[in-house]
Amino acid sequence: MTGNLRYHRRRLADTAAALRLARTQVRREQGPRAQLASHQQQLLETVVRHAASQSPFYRRWFDQTGPLSAEPVQLRRLPVLDKSVLMEHFDELVCDPRLRRDQLLDWVGRLTGDRLYLGRYRVLVTSGSSGRPGLFVYDATGWRSVIAQQLHSSIWAGLAPSLPRQRVAWIGGPSPSHVTRQGAATLSVGVHRVLALPATLPLAELVEALNRFQPTYVNVYPSVAMWLADEQHAGRLRLSPRMLVTVGELRTPDMTRRLTDAFGVRPFDVYGSTEGLFGSECEHHQGIHLFEDTTLVENVDADGQPVPAGQPGSRLLVTNLHNRVQPLLRLEVTDLVTLDPDPCPCGRTLVRAAAIHGRSDDVLSLPARDGGRVAVHPLHFSLLTRDPQVREFQVVQDGPALHIRVVPSPPVTTGDDRLETRLDQAVTRQLQGLGVHDPQVTVERRSELPRSAGGKLKLVIADPTAQPVPLVQGTAGN
Ligand SMILES: [Zn+2]
Repeated sequence: MTGNLRYHRRRLADTAAALRLARTQVRREQGPRAQLASHQQQLLETVVRHAASQSPFYRRWFDQTGPLSAEPVQLRRLPVLDKSVLMEHFDELVCDPRLRRDQLLDWVGRLTGDRLYLGRYRVLVTSGSSGRPGLFVYDATGWRSVIAQQLHSSIWAGLAPSLPRQRVAWIGGPSPSHVTRQGAATLSVGVHRVLALPATLPLAELVEALNRFQPTYVNVYPSVAMWLADEQHAGRLRLSPRMLVTVGELRTPDMTRRLTDAFGVRPFDVYGSTEGLFGSECEHHQGIHLFEDTTLVENVDADGQPVPAGQPGSRLLVTNLHNRVQPLLRLEVTDLVTLDPDPCPCGRTLVRAAAIHGRSDDVLSLPARDGGRVAVHPLHFSLLTRDPQVREFQVVQDGPALHIRVVPSPPVTTGDDRLETRLDQAVTRQLQGLGVHDPQVTVERRSELPRSAGGKLKLVIADPTAQPVPLVQGTAGN
């Protein structure tokens, strides 16, 4: 069999298996919670016992702490894995000795299209929140669970295989090592018509490509969706999607309203991560259900202690139940999440993130009036998106000062500084309300904002030298 044919068959098999898995998951989420728990425990047993025998890293850990007994595996007794340990011990953590961190990074760096490493592995790189790259490898089973989760969320948004075929536009990371690119490449085997566009494409080209393709389903970062909403209002973009899904960045209620106005559909907010945790809003749009049948999620405070539902945590510990080649057990993810203690009106038993407040690295620490420090979450700046003249913004901290860069919409006449004054006053009032001592805010107009290598917009850039603040008692706001 030629390499190409093998590659094509593999994508077909991945898509077919992922569809079956997604359908099973959709059925299971309507069942009782106990059924989900027993399914999770069964997968956890398999993945932990596999890691204990096949991963030199975990083999050593179990040698030191005592071997696994026949008793059920207890997640909380396993060590927490942070990203620096994951990268530092990559070569001994993985279960296939042919996988070597430096060789993989080098291979990925030279990728120009969709390829499988050694003809079998999907290799994904994240730029990482503080510039540290993350390297993730999936075998067929693990990758199918990632694709199943992508399908799972799109099924909720109304995207089911149909005739004529749906036209799916996937606007995401520009690099072939990005999870959205590889997801789109896997799924472009005929179920839907798929167009993958890099979020970094110049706006005029994005608009032209979308006008030509006329997607029925659009998957996009919220900040890029806001640009598209303006283009739609201006009449240059002419889309009538049946489904709009935003993923990967904070979306404020005001952004949701503006997107609904522009496209005539209520957007679904989706959470996706290269680590394997995915989730989606259901038809009630009251928080993001986490797909716990694929990943276990623990919400913990700064000391690693479990945080009860209803209270914000300072990070998540994510256990991927399907990745057997690179066991990801209790991996630290810096998302600040509050889990909802109440059941969702939809009746699904999957836990809901009432709010995802951003990443802990994006929380600003500012001097307080009472002499301490105040934690300011990215969502506290969502008032900027309430201003109809703000297309997008970015807050850059420099010690106690905050520089706010704003892209106005439509372009504001030079010499008119009412926008700057208005935003300066609004943010200053907000910070005073939070107890910040003498807020120093400047507002500066830009024609565009820098994006990450993955094409995402970072709303807040914290000053790494600022004195930290304990995050547990942080409030969400807005
Ligand atoms: Zn629900």
